[in-house]
Amino acid sequence: MALAAAGGCHDANWLTFDWSDRPVLCSHSIDDAEGPPWQRIEDQMRVAAAHDYVVLLHAHKPGKSVARSSIEHMLDLAATYHLPTLTYRELDPDRPARGGLAFAFDDNSVGLWFGLRDLLLQRRARVTFFLSRWSILDEEERAELRILAGDGHDVEPHGADHRHVSDYVRDHGIEGYLEDEMLPSMDVLVGAGYEVPTIYAYPFGERPDGLDDAVLEYVPRVRVSPKSCPY
Ligand SMILES: [Zn+2]
Repeated sequence: MALAAAGGCHDANWLTFDWSDRPVLCSHSIDDAEGPPWQRIEDQMRVAAAHDYVVLLHAHKPGKSVARSSIEHMLDLAATYHLPTLTYRELDPDRPARGGLAFAFDDNSVGLWFGLRDLLLQRRARVTFFLSRWSILDEEERAELRILAGDGHDVEPHGADHRHVSDYVRDHGIEGYLEDEMLPSMDVLVGAGYEVPTIYAYPFGERPDGLDDAVLEYVPRVRVSPKSCPY
């Protein structure tokens, strides 16, 4: 009830993975600029614990857009509600439902993500990195990402150049978007030896009409932000 009220006219499970086969997943940011909505997050976790849902949260640059203390607080809250961390790769509707927290870092601050490695290991937390702009990563960053993946974190695509989805589709069509932005961001990961992607996170959470069907030809799920959440 509190969750529904906080989110307007949304389903109670809108910011979660509910182990159904719905392909669009909606994640809330905990970046500090937006002020992590701790009450809403805790409400979500309570609902998730009661119904075996997975809470979906993300941030960008640890120590910059999101304080390390916020990450720790989120993990503390999840532990309070007995919600283990799961990667997006594990959010498979064919698996038995269980409560959890799927936390992601978006974009390409690999050095800053690597700086959290000890904390994540200590807390046995596994996260997903939605990576954009692989092309600008240097050798050291690529090596760090590889080590993070070796720790059990997931790496999934988030656009070759992190372009605005709606503008790009308007100017170049859905096929243009797939060819220039989405598919290359998947291909570089596979080419670098990562597992075949299971989800695509739209840059800026933009989700223009008609794009889901095209993208879902290539991945089973897409991730969006609350403002473009269909539930
Ligand atoms: Zn992004």
